[in-house]
Amino acid sequence: MTIRKPVIAGNWKMNKGPVAAHAFCARFAAAHAPREDRSILLFPPAISFSTVREALSGRTDLGLGVQDLHWEPDGAFTGELSAAMAREAGARYALCGHSERRHIFGESDQAVGRKAAAALAAGIVPIVCVGELLEERRAGRVADVILRQLDAALDAIPAGAESVILAYEPVWAIGTGVVATPQDASEAHAVLRARVGERLGEAVAAGMPILYGGSVKPDNAAALLAADDVDGLLVGGASLDPSGFAAIAAA
Ligand code: PEP
Repeated sequence: MTIRKPVIAGNWKMNKGPVAAHAFCARFAAAHAPREDRSILLFPPAISFSTVREALSGRTDLGLGVQDLHWEPDGAFTGELSAAMAREAGARYALCGHSERRHIFGESDQAVGRKAAAALAAGIVPIVCVGELLEERRAGRVADVILRQLDAALDAIPAGAESVILAYEPVWAIGTGVVATPQDASEAHAVLRARVGERLGEAVAAGMPILYGGSVKPDNAAALLAADDVDGLLVGGASLDPSGFAAIAAA
């Protein structure tokens, strides 16, 4: 039986400049002791990345990632950062296709795939986010939507897809306070895992972490983590508070 180590990831979105990021790190490091049985990842905004890396330099148990990247290695792409730059700065993970990127910034399934492929090529683990809108859930289209998003990402990855982490984040649950039930999460995760099995083989599917994200809080984290096929949590708003995020990390 494959044991998938839980992954708890905190996505700060556009919150915490360097001063607030530094303060968070001191408080979180004090509240969360290193533990081997789970991986804790932080995704600060790019402007605060080096502050977080330095503030947590003694904490090799904590992984760092970027919230987004561009698929080109360099060039005239104002405002963007490449996978190689992120890796050089110390990022080992990258969110790809977060729902805010897809729905606010119009990122296509194909763009998400190119980002995931660029991350892998640079030695960064992509966390490929998928999830349906509320109207798509109401129309019974959850599997269609998340499989379309997953397939587009896998289609774009020439090699290394076995290293991908998936995150199921129903759009209606992100930042709304409306959390999916553990059963909703399990069902969607099982759909994703089955497709990974068809495309990459059962061994890869059994080893691939699939995180749930959407209004995770200290009081619902344990139940979500205990659900079948849920291998971790991608936490937005509740990752901004060091003691709350420490509580989720310990759930
Ligand atoms: C997220 O940003 O990925 C997220 C799930 O946000 P929240 O936890 O605030 O719903």
